[in-house]
Amino acid sequence: MTLDNSRTKIIATLGPASSDKETLRQMFLAGVDICRLNFSHGKREDSIQTINIIRELNAELGVDVAILADLQGPKLRIGEVQEGTVLENDAIVEFVSEKCMGTAQKLYMSYEDFPRDVEAGDAVLIDDGKIKLEVISTNRNNSVKAKVIYGGPISSKKGVNLPNTRVSLPSLTEKDVDDAHFALEHDVDWLALSFVRAVSDVIELKQMIKRKKKNTYVIAKIEKPEGIENIDAIIAEADAIMVARGDMGVEIEFDRVPLLQKTIVEKCINASVPVIIATQMMESMITNFRPTRAEANDVANAVIDGVDTLMLSGETSVGKFPIETIRNMHKIIQYTETNRYNYNRGVPPKPGDPGIIGASVCYSAAITAERVGAKAIITFTEHGSTAKRLSGYRPKADIYAFTPNRPLLSALSLYWGVTAFYFEHQIQIDDAIENSIAILKEKGYLKTGDMVIHVASTPLKISHKTNMFKITLVK
Ligand code: PGA
Ligand code: MN
Repeated sequence: MTLDNSRTKIIATLGPASSDKETLRQMFLAGVDICRLNFSHGKREDSIQTINIIRELNAELGVDVAILADLQGPKLRIGEVQEGTVLENDAIVEFVSEKCMGTAQKLYMSYEDFPRDVEAGDAVLIDDGKIKLEVISTNRNNSVKAKVIYGGPISSKKGVNLPNTRVSLPSLTEKDVDDAHFALEHDVDWLALSFVRAVSDVIELKQMIKRKKKNTYVIAKIEKPEGIENIDAIIAEADAIMVARGDMGVEIEFDRVPLLQKTIVEKCINASVPVIIATQMMESMITNFRPTRAEANDVANAVIDGVDTLMLSGETSVGKFPIETIRNMHKIIQYTETNRYNYNRGVPPKPGDPGIIGASVCYSAAITAERVGAKAIITFTEHGSTAKRLSGYRPKADIYAFTPNRPLLSALSLYWGVTAFYFEHQIQIDDAIENSIAILKEKGYLKTGDMVIHVASTPLKISHKTNMFKITLVK
């Protein structure tokens, strides 16, 4: 469990603003469910220290905040740039493949095949699209010339987007493979892969995880036109999807992003695959103590759309108000969920669907919970798939997952509405039902007179598939 009692979960990206233990403790208390380590930045030593602090706090507070390691993927960047460099409108800039100190005339580009992959007329966007150039010529070897359309100040290592160019870099770069090994060695719960273009990108990372004999879950970050084109196949393979609006809003026209976000969320809910909305949700809180009205709207709308998780980036990693950002986001989530929410979503299972028995039991349990006014749906789970199914149907009742699989406790914290508890293996289903109710009563989640529904398999052998639900009046 985490200390966030709302259904919609919160990911906080950690960084210099949130790496000390006391700040992080306050963030946990304010309702963080998942901590994100962004491997685009930061050093190994810092990551190790942060991972240790998260685990200490989990032990001290008795919670299971998850760790998400975000792999940079084929992100393009310019190199070092002289301080005070400004690109003027209409100026010509040369992009070169050899490292150099950048100036307003010449910039290093971290992408060797750029001169071969690009065409005259292609756009080059720098620093989240704040600066725009248009390619004039390429020598197809090591130099590309471009004209500045919208200029401005430019600093070292800023990201580059090429919305019209088919980037030939692999999806898992050498750095990603290194970072993934490091993350897996430290048993993170989730790995996110940036700039996913094809389902094979997700499969490649999953195979690597399997070779390392880990069960780490994979988030596919959708932020490239190719990833959008292949969204259905990617949803079918990934453990979760992130709508990565930062790069997406530069890679495709920004007017398409709002509806695309809604379409992806809908597809994910219908497939019972968790979905995360990322970037600029509370952006102004990097410097201000409260969000703008438009930001509050963005958060509330994502909640109403039914997303599993909302992500904070700069707000908590480099912002002035990391704790207040979590509190404010939590406040918007709470108010919105309490006052307006469409429960019972997802597509009812159809004959012939894979896992039709388990899916039907979960779906019926969710519907029945509303009909009988059940306070909670309780499930026993070894790998989390039943909890994921139940969560996908967005029931009004609270979802409690009991598992003997400790690492699953934190992994489940990303799923909409799920609170997970450790539970010893039980032999008899009746004992499991009784004991789970006793635990929830003791923790104050249930009281005498509450109705609960248990979703389980009988006989209660973990390897058995979900095949029953039972309604119980709490004594
Ligand atoms: P990033 O991903 O912060 O790793 O770039 C999120 C996004 O692009 O929105
Ligand atoms: Mn991105």
